[in-house]
Amino acid sequence: MIVIKNGEVYSPERIGKKNIVLEGTRIEGIYDEINIPNDFINIDEIDAEGKLILPGFIDSHVHITGGGGEDGFSSRTPEIQLSTIIKAGITTIVGCLGADSVCRNMTDLLAKAYALEEEGVTTYIYTGSYEVPVKSLTDSLDKDIILIEKIIGVGEVAVADNRSSQPTYDEFVRTVAKSRIGGLISGKAGVVNVHVGNSKEGIEYIFNMIRHTDIPITQVIPTHMNRSKRLLMSGVELGKLDGIIDLTTSCDRDCMADDELTASEALKMLLDNDVNIENIQFTSDAQGSLPTFDQKGRLIKTSIGSVESLYDEVRNAISNQGIKLEEAIKVITSNVAEHLKFKKKGRLAKDYDADLVIIDKNSMEITDVIAKGKVAMRNGKVLMKGAYENK
Ligand code: ZN
Repeated sequence: MIVIKNGEVYSPERIGKKNIVLEGTRIEGIYDEINIPNDFINIDEIDAEGKLILPGFIDSHVHITGGGGEDGFSSRTPEIQLSTIIKAGITTIVGCLGADSVCRNMTDLLAKAYALEEEGVTTYIYTGSYEVPVKSLTDSLDKDIILIEKIIGVGEVAVADNRSSQPTYDEFVRTVAKSRIGGLISGKAGVVNVHVGNSKEGIEYIFNMIRHTDIPITQVIPTHMNRSKRLLMSGVELGKLDGIIDLTTSCDRDCMADDELTASEALKMLLDNDVNIENIQFTSDAQGSLPTFDQKGRLIKTSIGSVESLYDEVRNAISNQGIKLEEAIKVITSNVAEHLKFKKKGRLAKDYDADLVIIDKNSMEITDVIAKGKVAMRNGKVLMKGAYENK
């Protein structure tokens, strides 16, 4: 049992100074006052005076096994380590493959998800990669979603990108339909995470899908929507139709395209254009390569995405864009849980999972992280580490 005392709780809504009791892997209750008798059972007490308590962060687009780089084999990106995830305040992570579906594959992705789950965080994965038809783990993508607990949908399927498999509209919409059926049968979200590239067609396939089918708009989650102002403005249109907009927090600040926006800037722009914040989420795209191409499409530089950018961009939204903390944190907590149908995640409330992040009120730095009821980081020190990390 853990009792966290006197912290200001954001559930994500601000509910004031409270005491949170954790029992095993769940939140037992949230109380105004609590008195623990001296001779009671052994309880770990955490003093959160002067601190804010937030739901554990959810990062739903991470290349957990690393990805193929775009500059030959030596540019392959490394897999993620548990301590990196913990330091970033992330307690739930969704892994995916990207451009490389030959050297990277579903068995490896699933094994890595199992490993991270054993090590202490909650994990899920998407089946497939950039490619359509989807290279699933079993003989079909719907079977993957229905029968494999960790698989919650398909992704990241690439459209509007010179690196995509150039799927036709029909192939795209059939993928979404099949993923939805998989989700319905298994009680999961069954969404398709759509990588949107720089080509001018943008999210035209998604708009076509809304016009010509009655598949719910929330079955697709287009990501990298902040890669250009033009694309973001089509996101405004999508958001007004109640579609989900995913903003990528990793970016190479030295090599940003002229009209590229940071996730925090894009969030502000969406809100200024009356998009409901509930429709917006942030993901880090961590461990993915961040290539920079010149005008002729030649690669000139490559770097790597980081999970730390997820909360950094929320902080930037608060301090630079004037967005209230209780609103800003929704994009990495309750909104994502809602979009992906994680019923016990993204909120601090009775019977939800005991995943939480404690931050210092003044510095806004993460000081403590609890994942599935276990203390993963305390007073800035990471306690939960992967099997081969320095203890
Ligand atoms: Zn992508």
